[in-house]
Amino acid sequence: MVCVRLNPVKRIGEVSSVRMSEQDAIALTRSLLRFATVNPPGRERDCARHAGALLEQWGFRVEYHEYAEARTSVIARAGGSPSKAPLCLTGHLDVVPLGARAWTRDPFAGETDGDRLYGRGSSDMKAGVAAMLLAAKSLAKKISGTPGIVLVLTAAEEGGCIGSYHLAQTRLLGSAGAMIVGEPTRTIRTSATRARSSSTPGSAARRRMARCRSSG
Ligand SMILES: [Zn+2]
Repeated sequence: MVCVRLNPVKRIGEVSSVRMSEQDAIALTRSLLRFATVNPPGRERDCARHAGALLEQWGFRVEYHEYAEARTSVIARAGGSPSKAPLCLTGHLDVVPLGARAWTRDPFAGETDGDRLYGRGSSDMKAGVAAMLLAAKSLAKKISGTPGIVLVLTAAEEGGCIGSYHLAQTRLLGSAGAMIVGEPTRTIRTSATRARSSSTPGSAARRRMARCRSSG
């Protein structure tokens, strides 16, 4: 059984000048949980299109990339500067399998009980994707004249980062000046400073992401 505490979602919403409604964050996380993107087989396309449609509503330029049938990643941009690379917010849309133990809650309903939200991928990492989507929404109208934002929501992270590997081979990914990865780290911020020309995390970040995967 995997759940996230809702209070940390509230704290994320209060960071800096980016504000988001706690109810919006919970509702968006629940909407993402309803897409069964268990990997294998993944099938992230419907979830990716859902996120992409929201981003288009909020003024982002949205593109999709499929490395295989229904294995869809999203690249969405707002603002931008020819002289500086944008801030990249990234997360993955697939989730790990349900496991051998029976669930006492529907893993794809996004049920809440008190301050807990239940569902496969609630922690790793649809709550993180929802937080990044709402942060992007909040910032989209405030970034004129800045390097801008690019959101990269990838397919097939679980089991080897296959989606991001294929995405890095395309022209869609471009470069990033800095990257925030929404992986769960037990609410402890971690950093990795190794930069690359493509929007792929450095080895330290990948090791942290691998450790976090086991938290479901
Ligand atoms: Zn993850």
